Amino acid sequence: MQVWKFGGTSVGKPERMKSIRDLVTANETRKIVVLSALSGSTNALLAMGESLMKGEKAEANKQIDELKAHYDQFLTELFSTENGLTEGKAIVEKEFGFIRSLADLKIYTQKHDKQMVAEGELLSTQIFTAYMKEQGGSVVLLPALEFMSIDADNEPELAKIEEKLTGLLATQTDKQILVTQGFICRNPRGEVDNLKRGGSDYTASLIGGAITAEEIQIWTDIDGMHNNDPRIVSRTFPVRELLFEEAAELAYFGAKILHPSTITPAKMRGVPVRLKNTMAPDAPGTVIKSSISGGAEIKAIAAKDNITAIYVHSTRMLNAYGFLRKVFDVFEKFKTPVDMITTSEVSVAVTIDNPENLDKITEELSQFADMEEHDRNQSIICIVGNFLADKPGIAIRILEAVKGIPIRMISYGASEHNISLLVDSAHKNEALEALNEGLFEFN
Ligand code: ADP
Ligand code: ASP
Ligand code: MG
Repeated sequence: MQVWKFGGTSVGKPERMKSIRDLVTANETRKIVVLSALSGSTNALLAMGESLMKGEKAEANKQIDELKAHYDQFLTELFSTENGLTEGKAIVEKEFGFIRSLADLKIYTQKHDKQMVAEGELLSTQIFTAYMKEQGGSVVLLPALEFMSIDADNEPELAKIEEKLTGLLATQTDKQILVTQGFICRNPRGEVDNLKRGGSDYTASLIGGAITAEEIQIWTDIDGMHNNDPRIVSRTFPVRELLFEEAAELAYFGAKILHPSTITPAKMRGVPVRLKNTMAPDAPGTVIKSSISGGAEIKAIAAKDNITAIYVHSTRMLNAYGFLRKVFDVFEKFKTPVDMITTSEVSVAVTIDNPENLDKITEELSQFADMEEHDRNQSIICIVGNFLADKPGIAIRILEAVKGIPIRMISYGASEHNISLLVDSAHKNEALEALNEGLFEFN
């Protein structure tokens, strides 16, 4: 069994949805097909939620009408039979009926907003399943809300997911294609929740890990993981093979093609992840696995924005053990992950990407350390590859490439796959471009 995930742009137009059917039925392999919402839908649903939160009902209803019109048009271009179209219309009427009922609520809360944003995946998967049936496919819809769940810390409940999914699959042994929703899940209160923006990739990997799939394929609008951010840098190219560790670093540090947590479940069960292009299905894409032969030393670069650097000074650090523990206890207490860390004899600098509890963290740290002003609007630039510890020359090549750019922090040596630099976000694009030109060769 394989798990294939299609992102928003891959299902965003009727002709794309038709080509997905062709792709998933092109061979005999049984597949779980994970779908995102049609491109633009999640943003549109969030915008409706925002209007409702502000009490702007008329605006929300206008937004609902616009989105509904989009789906009505989509259906007429997708289905080729009366029966198919009737089925499609029934789905859209039902889901938009629910969306309107949310908009009619006297008090619209976070809980309702999560239900609202889930509608994108609920719509796309039901429409696709109906289309597959119209075309005579062996298909069934597996509702993600029946097996995908997160705990109180928003972490997926792996054991439960595995148990529930295995049980559901045991009832569907005769079906060839099993469609399910990416992104959405239930929280410990049983409410509808989600795996954060871009979370459909994570769904695919959680499912692939849970059933120890033969392979997880992430289908998107680009030919695999590029060596640098193609939205920013002009000359990028696809990287054909990556280790789990390398891909995990790239995803975590900003390569938008993968949700930051995607690699973890796949790596845990040793399931290869293949990134493929829906627009060019024959292109090789990128394969991510536990061991690869050869490959370039420096593989790819990614950048993560909205980073805050926090500087903590201790006058008593000399010979003082326990200081770092005290510092990290504070971050743990406020459930704030630390990305980068550098130390000197008397100081520690750390970066965080979630400043929600920054004031409380600073206050607690101030009880035993001197705090300097934080630097906001920073970017971590992460250079990924195979940096063997006893091989000289990597650091100098990186620093040479960015010699004209001020660097706030450097992290080197923690892993053989990652070297990170912290720069002010104002310099990010320039740094990515400079590293691209300095570290890669172009024919
Ligand atoms: P989907 O809707 O299929 O999930 P996303 O927009 O989330 O697609 O991810 C694909 C996009 O990620 C690409 O179109 C590309 O602009 C962007 N991207 C950012 N960094 C990279 C990278 N290193 N390699 C490939 N794509 C990247
Ligand atoms: N539809 C969700 C989003 O736009 C999840 C996803 O596309 O992966 O974030
Ligand atoms: Mg995505």
